[in-house]
Amino acid sequence: MKKLKLLKQLTTITIILISLISFGHDALAQVKIVTSTTDFATIAKDIGGDKVEVVSLSKGYQDPHFVDAKPIFITKLNQAGLMIYNGLELEVGWLPILITGARNSDIQAGNPTRHYNVSTSIKDKLEVHTGQVDRSMGDIHPGGNPHYMLDPRNGIPVARGIAARLIKIDPENAAFYEENFNNFVSELKLKISEWKTGLEPFQDTKVVTYHKLWVYFTKWAGFTEVGTIEPKPGIPPTPSHVANIIKTIENEDVKVIIAANYYPQKTPSIIAEKTGVPFLSLPAMVEGRDGINSYIELFDALVGEITSALKSKEGN
Ligand SMILES: [Zn+2]
Repeated sequence: MKKLKLLKQLTTITIILISLISFGHDALAQVKIVTSTTDFATIAKDIGGDKVEVVSLSKGYQDPHFVDAKPIFITKLNQAGLMIYNGLELEVGWLPILITGARNSDIQAGNPTRHYNVSTSIKDKLEVHTGQVDRSMGDIHPGGNPHYMLDPRNGIPVARGIAARLIKIDPENAAFYEENFNNFVSELKLKISEWKTGLEPFQDTKVVTYHKLWVYFTKWAGFTEVGTIEPKPGIPPTPSHVANIIKTIENEDVKVIIAANYYPQKTPSIIAEKTGVPFLSLPAMVEGRDGINSYIELFDALVGEITSALKSKEGN
């Protein structure tokens, strides 16, 4: 009888020990991912599920060209097993110094798996400058316009790139990542055709934007961008340029003015008032506004708000 009790106790202890060890193993196995923006963070979560822990350094309502580097970012990067960023110099003002400072050899440039410059996965880059680039041209990114995430089709190569890296880092869960990737792609493709149907009646619509941020979006949507409120990328509007834009809006029959909600709203509002053309202050990234928590929700909002503004303009 005594022997049996001892055996039972031993079994219990063994079970507890095994579960402790495997729990510890699971916690360790979680891939720590740091992304520069929320767009990459949400896709990484979609692919990685509970096998990953994801932190985005910038917020969705922040201008990703200018992010205040906080000491906590260095800690996060120091522990990261995978670093995901936009490239094309979008984060050139704040990220490289953080990556160097993190003293984490895994995520330094040159590690093709753990240092992921997402722009290397994007095929059709727009506004690539082959000639001389200088400061007089404004904040130009010679490798191409960096705002490619605003073409929803680019979500697919990004998800593929993230899945491929997670499979290399954590091959045990390859099937899980693969399945999540396939689900992400089929859901996104379905939504893309739905959005395109919604945009169909508004092909060749002329728009004015604030910053050269929407070139991928307008190309995908079938709009024509006839001007920007910034005279050059990163250069604030001047009175003479604003006067020209007002003329352009009137002469070209522009239907809508679009700006990311982290840009100054005053000038576009004044232009909208003077011309009677609606001004939309839009989220440009996931979490750019409350309620936008996925890449699909971002485009639901963008396509939804732009098309309903154009519809009500038509009704007038
Ligand atoms: Zn930009």
